[in-house]
This record gives sequence, structure tokens and C-alpha cells, in this order.
Amino acid sequence: MTDRILGLPAKYIQGQGALDRIGEAALQLDNSALVFADGFVRDLVGARVTQSLEAAKVTYQWEDFNGECCRSEIDRLKAKGKNMNLVIAIGGGKALDTGKAVAAELSVPFISAPTIASTDGAVSSIAVEYSDDHTHIGVMRFNCSPAVVLVDTQVVANAPVRLLVAGMGDSLSTWFEARACHAKGINNFRGGAISDIAMNLARSCHETIMHYGRDALCAVEKNLVNEAVERVVEANVFLSGVGFENTGVAGAHALDAAVSRYSSDHSIYHGERVALGVLFQLKLEGDTDAIRKLLPFFKDVGLPINLQGIGLKDMSAEDLQDLATIVMRDGSPIRNLPFHVKHDDVVHALSQLL
Ligand SMILES: [Zn+2]
Repeated sequence: MTDRILGLPAKYIQGQGALDRIGEAALQLDNSALVFADGFVRDLVGARVTQSLEAAKVTYQWEDFNGECCRSEIDRLKAKGKNMNLVIAIGGGKALDTGKAVAAELSVPFISAPTIASTDGAVSSIAVEYSDDHTHIGVMRFNCSPAVVLVDTQVVANAPVRLLVAGMGDSLSTWFEARACHAKGINNFRGGAISDIAMNLARSCHETIMHYGRDALCAVEKNLVNEAVERVVEANVFLSGVGFENTGVAGAHALDAAVSRYSSDHSIYHGERVALGVLFQLKLEGDTDAIRKLLPFFKDVGLPINLQGIGLKDMSAEDLQDLATIVMRDGSPIRNLPFHVKHDDVVHALSQLL
């Protein structure tokens, strides 16, 4: 029997003003750090971070992140951080993924500090690698999750509300994909069987979003942080991240990956495509009850409910066939669904999302 494996970050810190405490968190690991963020994030929070590091007497070298998680940038930052005992990355998914790679290759602990809650990669031990010209290359896997994940909820609440909503879309996939992967009996991203703890985390992620999502959206529209925002950020960043990593992905992420290959429209967020992917997966599963419960929520918070909503307008029958072929390509997580999926089933499910 396969061992059950569960991988989590060693410490998760979330709260208003948490970035002011990043120095303390760093010092508990070591006393020198390579810190990087892109220019926008540096302008936003750089002064607070450096003040906190200085107060904790953590020496640091600050670098501007070039915006892409690619080999040349990982190597450049590795060279800058070769005498540092810790890596801190601040910002969105690409900065954090780069931080995971740089820290792993330098064999030092990593502090992951997301400034938005649009995806769930901040807590995972997985990074998505691109080429220098932004073409998707593949997934990098590391032995451990970040040592610390630190989320300043006020910074997240100050970001555009659409990012939080996209994160809710990504979060809503976690339970449905976990349920499918568990039924199929696949190994998770950690290479082990899916634990009951992971299933509970995934279920809790779903319940949290459905219960607090609307209130969180109202608060973040006014840049306010309340309990609903704290709960949704925890779900988007932590529950969804450890949930997917310790269970798996299936139909929702299969649609996202296919659409990102099919369409050159980069204005749609990962979590928005994944949200439509949830409806797509549920269509394949024939779970009309779940769709009936989700649709009012999707409409209330502004998640896409059809292909048009993710930039795929006027899809012809031929277009649907082409998209279905990409969904069905070798290696697609569509095969993690616990039943045999045929090309025509995919076309049919897509045609119901026009
Ligand atoms: Zn995702």
C-alpha cells in the first residue's frame, strides 16, 4: 500500500500589518537574507520590509525581480544570494515560485510573502517554470514547502478586488478536484496517497469560500479587512494551496491548462479560468446539484459562468472540437477524473458552457 504523504509549510503567519513582522520571522531562521520583489511591489511595501529586517538586525541584499520565473533569473538571483542564509520573495506567483527555486538551489530556507491572494502557489513546494520569452516550460518540484508563509491581509485587501475573486475561483476547484483524485486513487503532488487530513483541508476550503466569499468581497471593495476577509485569504492562500498539493488536480485545471494553450488572451486570470473549469468538471460528472448551488455564488462575486466569460467568444463547433483535443492531450489532468472521459464528452460539456 502506498504511504500517505502530507507536506505543509513549517509556519503560516497571516494578519493586518504582518509584513512589519517579517524581520522577526526571518531572524528565527537566520540572520542574513536575499530579498526580492518586482519594482511595483518594492514601491508598495519595500520600506516596511527593510525597516522590519533592520529592526531585527537581519542583514539583507535587496534585488529587483525581473518578472519571470525562468532559468536566467533563477541563476542571477542565486549568484546574488550565494552568501546569504535565507531567501525572501515578496509579490505574486512568479516571484514566489522563483524564490522557491533560488532557495532550494542554495539549500537555504525560504520565506514566501504573497501580496495578492489570486492563486494558491504561495504555500506549495511546486513552481511553474517559463522560458525567458514567457513560454510555459514545466513544473519544478522541491523537497520542502516554504519555511514561512507570511501574508499581510491589509496589503491583500488593498489590491484590486478581481484578484481576490480569481483566488476564490482557484479555491473552489480544490474540493471538487480532491474528491475526484481521491475517488480515482491517484498519488498527490508529494508522491503519496491522499490523507484524510488533506481531504478535510480541501472540504474546509470549499465551505469557507461559500460561506464568507460574498462578505469578503464587499469588505475588500472598500479596502477593509474583517473576519470574512481573513477567512477567505486563509482559504485562498493556505487551504487551497495545501489542499491541491496534497490531493491533486483534475477537470477544472485541465480546462485552465487547455485554454491557456488555446487562447492568446492574457487578460484572464488563472483562477477565473479554473472557476469555469469547476463548472466544466461538474458537467462531466453530471453533478447538477453542485452546479445549482455554485451558480448564484459565481454570479454574485463575478466569476465566469460561460466560455465568453474567459475570453472565448463565438466558439464554433469546430473551435470546441479543437479545444477538446487540447483538454484530452497526453498528460492532461482530465485523466484524474475517476471515470473514462471521451473526446465527445468534453465537447458536450464545453457546448453547455457557451
Ligand atoms: Zn490553480
